[in-house]
Amino acid sequence: MDPRGFPTSLPEFQRVFPDDSACAKYLEKLRWPEEFMCGKCGVFGEPYRFANRAGVLRCRACKADNSLTAGTVMQGTHQPLSIWFWAAYLVATQTPGQSAMQFQRQLGLSRYETAYQILHKLRAGMVRPERDTIGGEHPVEVNETLVGGRTRGEGRGVHHKIYVLGAIEVRTRKDGEDRSANGSRDDHRDGKPLKRPTYAGRLRLQVASDRKAPTCQEFVRENVTRGTLVRTDGWQGYDGLTAGGWPHHGLALNADPKLTDAHLPMIHLIFSNLKTWLQGTHHGTSQQHLQAYLNEYTFRFNRRFYPMTAFNSVLGLAVRTVPPTYEALYSGRWEHPGGQAKSPQIEMPFA
Ligand SMILES: [Zn+2]
Repeated sequence: MDPRGFPTSLPEFQRVFPDDSACAKYLEKLRWPEEFMCGKCGVFGEPYRFANRAGVLRCRACKADNSLTAGTVMQGTHQPLSIWFWAAYLVATQTPGQSAMQFQRQLGLSRYETAYQILHKLRAGMVRPERDTIGGEHPVEVNETLVGGRTRGEGRGVHHKIYVLGAIEVRTRKDGEDRSANGSRDDHRDGKPLKRPTYAGRLRLQVASDRKAPTCQEFVRENVTRGTLVRTDGWQGYDGLTAGGWPHHGLALNADPKLTDAHLPMIHLIFSNLKTWLQGTHHGTSQQHLQAYLNEYTFRFNRRFYPMTAFNSVLGLAVRTVPPTYEALYSGRWEHPGGQAKSPQIEMPFA
């Protein structure tokens, strides 16, 4: 068990949430930490509970049914709470992420559509609508990369590339912080491996139509706090940053790995891991869903030290999210938060 009280493995998770009533208790505790209060009449007191309807608490005073899932992504669901909880655990904590197919298998769901729907409702909780800018006292690495995509009509073997812009905070470990590490690292002291003196802070990723100066600079303006030191490569798209209020350190890297590792180590690692994940889990991407995948990657990355926050967020327990409907997802009318509006006609990535 994690010191913050969150399960750190699937067996542990299943011990904590073995059935629907355990899940219901968790939801009840979040909503009413002290004592149940009826949402209809406002009366406090122990409600009626039903063995076969774990998600409902009935008020003893006015007999109104209070739904534990109201206002969450589980609202109106026909699936058991335990399925949602396990699904949320997998989505929130498994670093490689899940395809709908893997998800269906792991949860033992008979219908692919059910898995797809649950997965996408949970993913809708993976972006906070009021996203802060990053940086401030921490320098930020900014860069852009091309991600391979598939566009309908382009055919097999022809790839439509899409730009992705990324920004990541470079944080410095505090003086005196224990830097001893177990793995093999470059850095050693007295023969013992050391963690690097810096580590990755918050991440932002965004689909972009190009990498021209207005696009690059708007990305920085929207995602990085003004006054933050911004590190980039020598690309001219970032040339106006200093004048705009972001002290800019651009360095021509000329594809030299040593220079890159010294100047932009983190964003390069992020891009490399991102592409591996997209390729391995989603077998490439379509532009329509790419921003959703970027949101998911960013969400998990930014909460890798806070699994409980991640779990509550995807279930809609931390903030109220508006999940997409199945129809909206399939027709492509759902616009993934944090993305760009433009997108050509794209095939479904999950079919
Ligand atoms: Zn009542």
